[in-house]
Amino acid sequence: MRRDPKGILEELRSKAEKCTGCGLCKTRANLVFGVGPANAEVMLVGEAPGFWEDQAGIPFVGAAGKNLNALLQEAGLKREEVYITNVVKARPPGNRDPTEEEIAACRPFLQGQISAIGPKLVVALGRIAAGELLGRPVAMSREHGSLVDCNYAGVNFKLFLTYHPAAGIYSGRTKMELQDDFRKLGGILKKLGISSVTKQPQGR
Ligand code: SF4
Repeated sequence: MRRDPKGILEELRSKAEKCTGCGLCKTRANLVFGVGPANAEVMLVGEAPGFWEDQAGIPFVGAAGKNLNALLQEAGLKREEVYITNVVKARPPGNRDPTEEEIAACRPFLQGQISAIGPKLVVALGRIAAGELLGRPVAMSREHGSLVDCNYAGVNFKLFLTYHPAAGIYSGRTKMELQDDFRKLGGILKKLGISSVTKQPQGR
């Protein structure tokens, strides 16, 4: 009999709390495992916690989180209806990119989350998340806004590619592209019949 996703996620979180699989466990303030319903149809995956996430133990708070919340509205999604996590569950010092070794060490947790939740659609926020899920390098400037088939951890789902919301803080152009991508995502979710879409995306 299939165990309940909530129980599996709780077990995984408790393993991650004790994990010493990479050096990030020594420098983090808090584990940032993931938030959201265990039966979410939509998952969002970023790359790694930043300063505010590390302080709060919650993904996407602070300025990037504020941007993400606004973008979710563009897609007609409510934050509490989606499951949000990162490729690595602890903050790399100075907000550097996670290394290949750290990504590999943390992989079983993302695999476990995706396998437990079984999302219909995953949004890759940035090239590191997209590269991990697709198993190949992704040039986001060329591929953002696209929807591809993905199999990760033995689960088949649609993968939507876009920038990391933090990129929209530093570049007006990327901010516009992110807004366009999330409006497009709203249309895709409707077409796929994903029930968590609560309202029509707003026009500009
Ligand atoms: S970041 Fe991942 S692999 Fe590294 S110690 Fe934390 S849970 Fe383990």
